[in-house]
Amino acid sequence: MTAIAAGSAMALEFRSVTKGFGQNGTGTTLTALKDITFKTDEAEFVAVVGPSGCGKSTMLNMTAGLYQPTEGEVLVSGETVSGPNSHVGFMLQKDLLLPWRKIEANVAFGLESRGFSRKECRERAHLQLEKCQLGGFGDYYPYQLSGGMRQRAALARTLAIDPEVILLDEPFSALDAQTKIIIQKNFAETIEDEKITTLLITHDLAEAVFMADRILVLSERPGRVIEEIKVDIPDRGNPTARRQHPRVTEYISHMFDLLKLQDRQVVN
Ligand code: ADP
Repeated sequence: MTAIAAGSAMALEFRSVTKGFGQNGTGTTLTALKDITFKTDEAEFVAVVGPSGCGKSTMLNMTAGLYQPTEGEVLVSGETVSGPNSHVGFMLQKDLLLPWRKIEANVAFGLESRGFSRKECRERAHLQLEKCQLGGFGDYYPYQLSGGMRQRAALARTLAIDPEVILLDEPFSALDAQTKIIIQKNFAETIEDEKITTLLITHDLAEAVFMADRILVLSERPGRVIEEIKVDIPDRGNPTARRQHPRVTEYISHMFDLLKLQDRQVVN
């Protein structure tokens, strides 16, 4: 487990990170990411966009300590990430709630292996459910909640371990359009209140503009940072308000150009 000094400023950093994957039996290496360098400030919300297969999930997996870089370093709060650790919380498109556990017990799940008493687990889970606007649903089973509520429960579970950084891998992509708007707002408020450094992967260019302080635009594989875009629109904690802002389309069309979406052909 990675040791991280208590009380130090929490931020995420990639230093010249390249990641290659060996191709089974061929003796060749596929380079997924090439020379990625960036640094987040404490409590900054960074979105990563780029074509499919350019290495976005690989970035998250390295931050979570599931993969090691081939070259370079990933650091959380100045410490090299050398394996899975409780300083980084990971949330996926699928909520991965355990169907046989009630919601509160699901949120408490990550705490149980960390030496908290049963009472502490219950209290922390309860508090986190309140923050994610699910107070009163702790005794429900996952199947009794809507998709949006389940994603909020998954966020509560991710936050319950008190991570320094959270990683969001397309957490809204399976939601219907209206639920997505509500859940984006709920996530943005909660993340802003918790002052937590966040890395969001998304295919949705508009979502990146609605939610992030900064956007990293990656090239096609091997993914490199083509541009870092500072989102100079107020109300980061309120994506619904940002939707109305006249500059949103400017940012989207700029990314559209960077990613050459106009010229893209459908290949599969
Ligand atoms: P994205 O999230 O941008 O769609 P990924 O990070 O999932 O891209 O994948 C980037 C490239 O790395 C892809 O070509 C994918 O096939 C390859 N890749 C990802 N994980 C592995 C792995 N564990 N083993 C081999 N190749 C992988």
